[in-house]
This record gives sequence, C-alpha cells and structure tokens, in this order.
Amino acid sequence: IFEKVNVALGRRSYDILIGEAILPQIDAHAARLAPGAALAIVTDENVARAHLPAVEAALTAAGIRHESIVVAPGEESKSYATFEKVCDAIIAGRFERGDLVVALGGGVVGDLAGFAAASVRRGMRFIQVPTSLLAQVDSSVGGKTGINSTHGKNLIGAFHQPRLVLIDTQVLKTLPLREFRAGYAEVVKYGLINDRAFFEWLETHWRGVFAGGPDQVHAIAKSCAAKAAIVIADEHEAGERALLNLGHTFAHAFEHIVHYDNRRLVHGEAVAIGLACAFRFSAARGLVGAAEAERVVAHLRTVGLPTAIRDIPDWNADESTILEAMFQDKKVQRGVLTFILAHGIGRSFIARDVAAADVRAFLAT
Ligand code: NAD
Ligand code: ZN
Repeated sequence: IFEKVNVALGRRSYDILIGEAILPQIDAHAARLAPGAALAIVTDENVARAHLPAVEAALTAAGIRHESIVVAPGEESKSYATFEKVCDAIIAGRFERGDLVVALGGGVVGDLAGFAAASVRRGMRFIQVPTSLLAQVDSSVGGKTGINSTHGKNLIGAFHQPRLVLIDTQVLKTLPLREFRAGYAEVVKYGLINDRAFFEWLETHWRGVFAGGPDQVHAIAKSCAAKAAIVIADEHEAGERALLNLGHTFAHAFEHIVHYDNRRLVHGEAVAIGLACAFRFSAARGLVGAAEAERVVAHLRTVGLPTAIRDIPDWNADESTILEAMFQDKKVQRGVLTFILAHGIGRSFIARDVAAADVRAFLAT
C-alpha cells in the first residue's frame, strides 16, 4: 500500500510519499536527496520514545551521521527559547547548509524544526516526517513554518518548503485516539471545501480510515493532494488558500476563549465545531439547505467529534465574547470578518461581506 503526491512549486518540486511502514526507508531517501549529508533529527519526547529508535537504527545501519534533538511535547515548544535551543544544537552539531534537518513529530515539531531549517545558515535542506494525523494531512504540506509570540500563535515564521514529506501510517498506531479524531476533522474539511465525492467516500469508509490500512493511506493521500493543489495555486496566501480556513474563523475564536487549553479543546475538535457552524450559518443565510448542513454535522458526530459550542467543557462565553475573539484573529483585515461559507458539500467559497450582526444573531441561536 503506497501512494505518492507531487507538489509542483516551480523549481521547488517535491514528493509526499504515503505508505505503511515506510519510515525505515528514511536512510535511502536521505541518501538520494542529499548524498553524503548528515541528519539533524528534531523530535519531541513522546515521538522519540515510540519511533526514534527505528529511525536511528536505519541511519546507523546505513552509515549516515545523525544526531537527535529532543524537545518537550506540546505547543509550549513553539517558543523563542526552544527555537534557540534547536538552532544552537544544529550549529553545535556541525551541520552545514547542505545537511538535512528532519522534523519527526506532530505539527509542533514540524513548525519548529521547519523554522529552524529556514533560519540556520539562511536555509538548510529539510524533510518532514509527520507523525500525527493532523501533521500528515495538514501542517507538513504547504511550507509554512514558525513559532508563537506572546502576542499570538504563529506570528514569527517563514515559508520554507521541504525536500520530501515522508508519511508512514504505521506511526499513527501510537497516536492517542483523541488526537487521531481531531486530525480527522481536517480530512473531512477537504471534502467539504471542494470534493463532495471524497466526503461521501468518507461517510462510508471512515471505519477503515480509523482502523489503518489502504483506506487510511488513501484518505491521507487525498487530503495531501487537496492541500497541495490549493497551495500550488496560491503559495503565499494571496487568495484561494483562504478556503483552507473553512471552519477556522469559528475554531480560532473557541480556542482563544479556552486559552488554548488542550484538556478542554484540541485544535481539530475546535475545527469540527467550526465546520458544523460554517454549514449551519450557511443554512441560516439560505445558502445551503438545512438537510445538507445536518448531513455534515451527522458525519462529524458519527466519528465522535464535537459539533456544537455546548460540547466544549465548562463553556460560559456569550455571543459578544465569541465575536470579540473573532476580531482578535490575525486574519481579520481592517475589521471585516472573512468567512468561508458553502453553497453545499464540496462547494465552499470566500465570503468577505459578512456583517458582525449576522454572526451574532447566528451565535445566539
Ligand atoms: P502536536 O505536534 O503537539 O502533537 C500532538 C500530540 O501527539 C503531542 O503530544 C505529540 O507528542 C503527540 N504525538 C505526535 N505523534 C505521535 C505518535 N505517532 N505517537 C504518539 N504520540 C504522538 O500537535 P499537532 O496536532 O500534530 O499539530 C498542531 C500544531 O500544528 C500547532 O502548533 C499548529 O499551529 C500547527 N499547524 C501548522 C500548520 C502549517 O501549515 N504549518 C497547519 C496546521 C497546524
Ligand atoms: Zn486546522
């Protein structure tokens, strides 16, 4: 079981390889992409425990010089302090411009290691080995890297494309179910954006996607291809890339209100509620039929994702607080809320004319 997606960004074309148990081939890929290069592997403690030994064994057996830089798990590692630690470790390890930085982990490690790769010596070669479902279908594709500032998430960063994205579905076996489910919300998002057939396939094949095997590989490949297509059309986020934010104007507000407390809400759960809100809001505006919107909600609920604001534990924010949080978002331009709304499943569009009063009225229902 093996699929390949090419990301054709001019000179910077690269492959996303998706397969079961392909991680031990990392030495061959490294040798092919950068013959003679040494590898600086950035990972977090959870992923290191479960998967670093296999990677190190493959590289040692192939005689490839490598060093591992292990950071604490969690969003706190997307900080100036950890960024400094990672960059300094790469420099102290005598890695050069042509050597490879490997991001082995979830989106936190991918963003952090990618930004270190973009920064050390003004740009080192870089491979993404995403290990969470969210990282496999979203954050490892597209070239956005970065860390957080005290003023907000992802405010410091760079665009830096990897040379390869190596996706091994086997590593998902150790990912907690809650994290897997959260990543699945982003998979559903791609169907909702512009691929009704994929959404319908997910409705009938989601058990296989959760179980592993060919359906899982296929869903990840479809998601990567969907994101790659949008990124290719709009690498630096001038327009159409905004479609990837379906559900996210709502989601970011919810995450902001719970202070990004992962015990209450992880990103993908916020996205699931956001997707439900985007379709219900579209229905309230008469853009889509109520039955179509409820079909989206039903699928999210079937897999165990939250779909309503009241599903968030200890929620006590009112409409005004949510609206205020939406205006805090860095994607709000000159006080105008941009929403991704839909005419149907697979028919989303960018709406730049949404009045705050309409959002407030919807949130009050
Ligand atoms: P994460 O990296 O924190 O991973 C979630 C948890 O799962 C962590 O505790 C991690 O240690 C653990 N984990 C990861 N893989 C594992 C495995 N195979 N086995 C066991 N445990 C494993 O979070 P995430 O959800 O992967 O990514 C979220 C981050 O991604 C956020 O910082 C977000 O801003 C970023 N992001 C970036 C982009 C982008 O385009 N660059 C897009 C979306 C999200
Ligand atoms: Zn997201």
